[in-house]
Amino acid sequence: MISFEQELRDKHLKITPQRMVMLRQISDNGHMSIEELHEQIKSIYPSISLATIYKNINALCEANILREIKAPTQKQKYELSSDRHIHVACEKCGKLEDIKIDTSSLQNGCANLSGYQIYDVSAVFIGVCPECKAKSSAC
Ligand SMILES: [Zn+2]
Ligand SMILES: [Zn+2]
Repeated sequence: MISFEQELRDKHLKITPQRMVMLRQISDNGHMSIEELHEQIKSIYPSISLATIYKNINALCEANILREIKAPTQKQKYELSSDRHIHVACEKCGKLEDIKIDTSSLQNGCANLSGYQIYDVSAVFIGVCPECKAKSSAC
């Protein structure tokens, strides 16, 4: 696994302590919204603004170090793009979880149907999580 320093250097991005903290936070938490990141980073850099985080997120997304997860059930979240997986989202509580599943047959099917060269997949499956399911069947 390559370090975040190395990754920033490879993409010709400046290595700043703020960026390092952001990447470490996202790596620890899996998915984070800009507001969640701001909350966490404020405890380390009290003067950091939401706008600064936003700008850095954009730069990191453009460099393909981070990617945006577009889940219809919730606010935009970001995660490390090096980790390939699909998501399940709970319609009731808005929880988002990673599912590591082999999507190669789906990708091959799409490639055959469309003629595209498929190199990535971004999918969110929507449903009700086990906790919410248990709650709703209890009453
Ligand atoms: Zn739920
Ligand atoms: Zn994820």
